[in-house]
Amino acid sequence: MTVDDDLPGALDRLLREVRACTICASHLPLGPRPVVQAAPGATLLIIGQAPGTRAHESGVAWSDPSGERLRDWSGIDAATFYDPAQVALTPMGFCYPGRSPSGGDAPPRPECAPKWHMPIRAHLAEIRLTLLVGGYAQKAYLAGRATLTDAVRDFGSAPSGLFPLPHPSWRSAGWMRRNPWFETDVVPALRARVALALARGGAVRD
Ligand code: SF4
Repeated sequence: MTVDDDLPGALDRLLREVRACTICASHLPLGPRPVVQAAPGATLLIIGQAPGTRAHESGVAWSDPSGERLRDWSGIDAATFYDPAQVALTPMGFCYPGRSPSGGDAPPRPECAPKWHMPIRAHLAEIRLTLLVGGYAQKAYLAGRATLTDAVRDFGSAPSGLFPLPHPSWRSAGWMRRNPWFETDVVPALRARVALALARGGAVRD
């Protein structure tokens, strides 16, 4: 970090740099369009996978049924979720990565998180809780976990300040049926942790 990085507006300058990024443009079928949200006062950080086509078009992350499910699990309303002064959104890949040959979206581009996560995180000094949403975020931030299901079931032993979650895509409905402890044990704990993280003044849904 340079001296200039400590001045007010440094995060804005960094985000302008992110939004001009073309590092992996040759791999992006729709071209670069980083979808990221952050401001210095945010207390909750959500690390998901990568934008889908809808988020690529709108520039708004989690503006789909997956986002609604994530907000429901977390107990926060859309106004709070999209307030960068409360919630930062930094997926593992900031741009839509295209389709996988086996169906579904391709994995987040591997260049992205190593390039941008630490510089952005350096400006987010108030973060109290980080949600690791899906296997890619957990692989990057929870070394040594055998499976996503184990990591989520064992959420209480995650390193301080980290909370692993499944990806809230339509596939999660079947996963939740197979793992009923998620709704009975994990979701209430998640809502309590999120409410605590946002307690400085954020709106917490009942
Ligand atoms: S995915 Fe990340 S590294 Fe690749 S162009 Fe977008 S912002 Fe840059």
